[in-house]
Amino acid sequence: MDRAVEFPPLANALDYLRDGAGRLGETPSPSDLKYAVLHLHAGVEVLVKYRLVCDDWRLILAPESVEASEQQFKAGDFRSIGLGKALKKLKDDAGISLTNGQRNAANALERFRNQLQHYGLVSTAEAVESQTTKVLGFVLDFIDQHLPIDVLRDDRDAEVLTTMLDDLRQKLSRIEHLVQQRMQHLQPALKGSPSWCPDCGLPAVLMSSAEHPHPVNVPAHSEPRCAFCTRRWDSLKYYVDDFTGIRLGLSVHTAVTEGGDYPIDWCPECDEELLVWFDAATGERRPNPTWRCFACENTFNDNCPRCGRAVDNPEIATETKLCRECIEEFGNRD
Ligand SMILES: [Zn+2]
Ligand SMILES: [Zn+2]
Ligand SMILES: [Zn+2]
Repeated sequence: MDRAVEFPPLANALDYLRDGAGRLGETPSPSDLKYAVLHLHAGVEVLVKYRLVCDDWRLILAPESVEASEQQFKAGDFRSIGLGKALKKLKDDAGISLTNGQRNAANALERFRNQLQHYGLVSTAEAVESQTTKVLGFVLDFIDQHLPIDVLRDDRDAEVLTTMLDDLRQKLSRIEHLVQQRMQHLQPALKGSPSWCPDCGLPAVLMSSAEHPHPVNVPAHSEPRCAFCTRRWDSLKYYVDDFTGIRLGLSVHTAVTEGGDYPIDWCPECDEELLVWFDAATGERRPNPTWRCFACENTFNDNCPRCGRAVDNPEIATETKLCRECIEEFGNRD
């Protein structure tokens, strides 16, 4: 470890994060929202790279700069990897893995920033704020667990951490409070089983709803809509595609080319291809997944051992259970 290396500075990362978080609040302007996303993204990227540099400065060099000398590195005369690669190296080279929730928040931030660069921000302040609470939560945990004093590169960094962290914590709790308050207001509309929103990351998507007037402010709708961040989908299928792709990280393409799990299956009850295997309590693939049909709302906890169709199996701990079709087929054969 070379303590003389000056890049990337920790103060820079924290300053980006503090500025980004400071722009969010009750009703951020479009410009505040834009710079909040850009600065939070830059802050997380610099912070993660800082941690990599603590191990070895070469870890953040982009492929075209692998020949860079330490002198060039110190002068900033090199190309470095982006956030996605940095997070991967964090896992592969520094042995630091993110939880699913942290990875989802980091991915959301990356998606918001890409949207900004290509289309302008298409997400709402609510979605950005909800994901920001997770990103900042991740940042604070990350600093706490992976940047102890003895890892930091010099005393100045230790000083920076102590002076800036409190401010960051306060900003986080202010935004968290806003998000909680909004969720509280929405409770009358969120009865039943709202699903998870790939944009804001909260369990606030209603497949349809009657109107809930002020202060809940949910209009009547018959297609999926997120009560928290107001994101809408034109059909159940579009919602399920986004949910499985963005939130669960599944795709038909990967299933076909790399042999992973298919994102959706056919429902044995209503025959719609809207059956998804996930844990409704976490909105992730773990820890207790079941099949949920987004069309008829039936759930199934097992698969038929003969044909693979989803089945409801009350004795799952001790027995397998054939589906109706397989039982009928057997019956006819006898
Ligand atoms: Zn949402
Ligand atoms: Zn169904
Ligand atoms: Zn079967």
